[in-house]
Amino acid sequence: MAEVLVYVDHVDGAVRKPTLELLTLARRIGEPVAVALGAGAENTAAALAEHGAVKVLTADAPEFAEYLVVPKVDALQAAYEAVSPAAVLVPSSAEGKEIAARLAVRIGSGIITDAVDLEAGDEGPVATQSAFAASFTTKSRVSKGTPVITVKPNSAAVEAAPAAGAVEALAVTFGALATGTKVTSRTPRESTGRPELTEAAIVVSGGRGVNGAENFSIIEALADSLGAAVGASRAAVDAGWYPHTNQVGQTGKSVSPQLYVAAGISGAIQHRAGMQTSKTIVAVNKDAEAPIFELVDYGVVGDLFEVVPQLTEEIKARKG
Ligand SMILES: Cc1cc2nc3c(=O)[nH]c(=O)nc-3n(C[C@H](O)[C@H](O)[C@H](O)COP(=O)(O)OP(=O)(O)OC[C@H]3O[C@@H](n4cnc5c(N)ncnc54)[C@H](O)[C@@H]3O)c2cc1C
Repeated sequence: MAEVLVYVDHVDGAVRKPTLELLTLARRIGEPVAVALGAGAENTAAALAEHGAVKVLTADAPEFAEYLVVPKVDALQAAYEAVSPAAVLVPSSAEGKEIAARLAVRIGSGIITDAVDLEAGDEGPVATQSAFAASFTTKSRVSKGTPVITVKPNSAAVEAAPAAGAVEALAVTFGALATGTKVTSRTPRESTGRPELTEAAIVVSGGRGVNGAENFSIIEALADSLGAAVGASRAAVDAGWYPHTNQVGQTGKSVSPQLYVAAGISGAIQHRAGMQTSKTIVAVNKDAEAPIFELVDYGVVGDLFEVVPQLTEEIKARKG
């Protein structure tokens, strides 16, 4: 069976969920061979094996941390040359997309970014993308070279499928460009303790209806009762009520969680663009005519200041 390279996103050996989702998708088109780079790369092996990696190619060098993406591209290219895979899959983060694009240029391949699904096809893997503010779904396949495909978080359910996960050291020679852009400092973002917006299984978002930064605590309380990330509409962000990093939509982040709760959000096309592919959508809005109700699975016509705290209390009560 053909091998499929899967680029691993991990933090000191802890594999992030989008990579486990990639392994599920990779198994549809071949045998996953994972590529883990940087500090703790070898510690990724157990989780990757549990989710279907037949091999885990690892490399660590100071260059991965001290310079921007090029050393990682050099390493992924080395893995590509060692394996001759049927496809290369990379998580659709900003860094992942840059690595994938640079690799595709180097190996003369076509690239598909932000896929939301992947299936085997007679002439190579077929990727599904959601286009034009999610008004269209397209299916594409790479017609030149080895397909390089980046896949959005939450595009597949994580499924365990134990495999050998044999660790092999990957020999990497860095090119002249690898040290072209040096990282000069790093400042960790203050942690909210909540999941990352684009990876969260549940997102609770607030809009202009929340009516003030101080009221976002209502949204946060519901989010915390569900273990969810907090999102915001652009109106709420522009008003300075919530940080731009939490904006959902065309000019914010795209999310595709299992559950998306929109409170006090009208459902403008630019907001929908970032959340329309969520599996289950719930809205709380006091205007029964609000466009958000056109796409919800469950809608509550009501005042969010009454509905949201009741919902939070009910969830807490049921969790016991
Ligand atoms: C180029 C461009 C890019 C854009 N990008 C984005 C983007 O990335 N993300 C984004 O979100 N927007 C984006 N927008 C803005 C978008 O068009 C809308 O203006 C914005 O989404 C509206 O935010 P909102 O739904 O919070 O506010 P509104 O449209 O004002 O809606 C507020 C809603 O809250 C309801 N409400 C009020 N009070 C309550 C209450 N007490 N209880 C319950 N419901 C209540 C109202 O009925 C209303 O439906 C973009 C616009 C442009 C032109």
